[in-house]
Amino acid sequence: LARRSERRVDTICPYCGVGCAITVHVAEGRVLRVDGADGPANAGRLCVKGRFGLDYVHHPRRLTTPLLRRPGVPKDPALLLPGPDGRVNEDAWWAQFRPATWEEALDAAAAGLARVRDAAWAAGVHGRAMPVAGFGSAKGSNEEAYLFQKLIRSAFRTHNVDHCTRLCHASSVAALMEAIGSGAVSNPVRDCALADLIVVIGANPVQNHPVAATWIKNAVRRGARLVLIDPRRTELARVAWRTLTFTPGTDVALLNALLHVIVSEGLVNDAFVAARVQPGDLQALRAHLQAFTPEAMAPLCGIDAATLREVARAYATAPASLIFWGMGVAQHSHGTDNARALIALALLTGQIGRPGTGLHPLRGQNNVQGASDAGLIPMVLPDYHRVTDPAHRAVAEAAWGLPAGFLPAEPGLTVVEILHAAAEGRIRAMLIQGENPAMSDPDAAHARAGLARLEHLVVSDLFLTETAALADVVLPAAAWLEKTGTVTNTDRTVQLGRPVLSPPGQARADAWILEQLARRLGLNWHYDIDPLGGAPTADSGIGRVFDEMAGLMPALSGLRWQRLLRIGAITHPVPSADDPGHPVVFTERFPTPDGRAHLVPARLGAPAEPADSAYPYVLITGRQLEHWHTGAMTRRSAVLDALEPVPHVSLHPQTLQSLGVRVGERVCLRSRRGSVTAAVRADEAVPAGVAFLPFAYAEAAANLLTIAALDPVAKIAEVKYCAVAIEPV
Ligand code: SF4
Repeated sequence: LARRSERRVDTICPYCGVGCAITVHVAEGRVLRVDGADGPANAGRLCVKGRFGLDYVHHPRRLTTPLLRRPGVPKDPALLLPGPDGRVNEDAWWAQFRPATWEEALDAAAAGLARVRDAAWAAGVHGRAMPVAGFGSAKGSNEEAYLFQKLIRSAFRTHNVDHCTRLCHASSVAALMEAIGSGAVSNPVRDCALADLIVVIGANPVQNHPVAATWIKNAVRRGARLVLIDPRRTELARVAWRTLTFTPGTDVALLNALLHVIVSEGLVNDAFVAARVQPGDLQALRAHLQAFTPEAMAPLCGIDAATLREVARAYATAPASLIFWGMGVAQHSHGTDNARALIALALLTGQIGRPGTGLHPLRGQNNVQGASDAGLIPMVLPDYHRVTDPAHRAVAEAAWGLPAGFLPAEPGLTVVEILHAAAEGRIRAMLIQGENPAMSDPDAAHARAGLARLEHLVVSDLFLTETAALADVVLPAAAWLEKTGTVTNTDRTVQLGRPVLSPPGQARADAWILEQLARRLGLNWHYDIDPLGGAPTADSGIGRVFDEMAGLMPALSGLRWQRLLRIGAITHPVPSADDPGHPVVFTERFPTPDGRAHLVPARLGAPAEPADSAYPYVLITGRQLEHWHTGAMTRRSAVLDALEPVPHVSLHPQTLQSLGVRVGERVCLRSRRGSVTAAVRADEAVPAGVAFLPFAYAEAAANLLTIAALDPVAKIAEVKYCAVAIEPV
């Protein structure tokens, strides 16, 4: 019977930025199985999350009705902490709320936001000082990201709108924009098939972008040389030509040493620099690099000078070299400088603008590229048009029916700044859609205190997350598999997602929720979005949103909904209606005013909180193969949860020995900001004196330990490095 009613629907995996195409087999409202489809990023391949991790949509604790906080029930961040049995008490979270109708919940959500807004407006306050902010999501579609930033900007007259890119690649994007005028990748992952040398730095694609890792391994099998640069000896080391396990936090020392070799040994591509780089930049960089000899940097970064010279020569002289990087580069208080050095490597050697070369910051979430493109960032409007530019503001105001001069000229607050402001009472109301800052933000106790202090917090999500547990109004959202929308993967490929299932109970599509809130906040929105996700038809409300968004984005000027329905996927920029898309960009010029790039010297920075006698270990946080980000989805997937059911801290066997603990025993990790306990796992890939803890587990929330030190340019937090003490319990 199940077979007779079986349907197959093609859509996109909801997890990582690789953006694998999937075919979902469903019957009687349940996912039966998932196959890899022949998408541009995966050609049928899938990892364990895409193949077995979609059953979270059927989890019994899905939100299926709107919830309102019961009168008089305080918001208590202590509820989020594990009890004496080591488990968090989700039942206590649920007991704070009562069910409500959609009318009641939407009215309450909008009224609370409007109350704070109207008081601010009455006092003449708007812009950065507006006490309202919003976090959209890179888990949602492009259309949802676009509507979210439009709602915050139009209804509250502020750019206090951001999303998880702030904690992901904000530093990479800042450095790329500064150097080459675009934050996007230059070449797709699959271009490694054309590379002679591949650098993977600060990234663990086997765990975090598994299908991308398969393309890299294929390239190595074909004969490409892989250089792995990471404090941890990650799994790609097995196939690497050289593995540089450097001292955490010394990225600039290592990379500037490579640059020093290139400028001092005549390895600069003079023709490329003359044609494509600002005059004078090379001389300035050469002067800056003088002191960064491999011999001087070796003691700092822990890599011997001969290896640094060998790697620099190999990168510069290979016919085609391609760099991938990840959070290990970006999530530092000197993350922008780390990325500046990587960009300089490519520019000095001309390893960009051709197939098999380039710069590829591996995007984390499935739509972090698209959400950023859509303007879900406090400094820029759609397509990275700066809010400081009056001409760009005027275009948005005209398109959105706002009075001239309505949009503020100053950028808004960023993610961490917003939660600091909430803790200080300067942000008093928030709308959060699909993000879980109570788990993902650095110094989580401080972030949770800020969320709890808000006068009015509206959260829409699939589950009663740690963040939703601190809300006043909780709105049940449709999952990715339950709605139509587009997402843009790490390669800049825009792909159409189709609904596989109907939302459970009263769960509704986030785009519909935004339209309903906008109308209640006085905006004249009439997209007529289907509350149940809807099919991707020529006349769908989501299509109207897509066309409005694409009309504001030169990168999508040749792409409209009708065409996307027909072709399903295309890589932007798409400048005309018959353009096939551009997987490789910057072939002739960079998107800067004069087409030339900037070489920006990278300054040597130190971690904000080095280890010391009181906190003698370095903590690195990150993801693991089976669990995605804060675990909201994967920990509710039966297979993934069975594979990795409890948190572990990974330590080198020497560290275990010095602590006197054995594998499986529990330790307490303590930083200046908080403490967690977890069982230990022996891992020779982690350097001695370093601890690795995934941030997916509420029972041992890694971000209770991390520091909210920010990169001064990109405002990204240093969640890859803080000092901790470790004691047996
Ligand atoms: Fe999904 Fe990423 Fe795995 Fe592909 S590699 S199946 S997009 S999680």
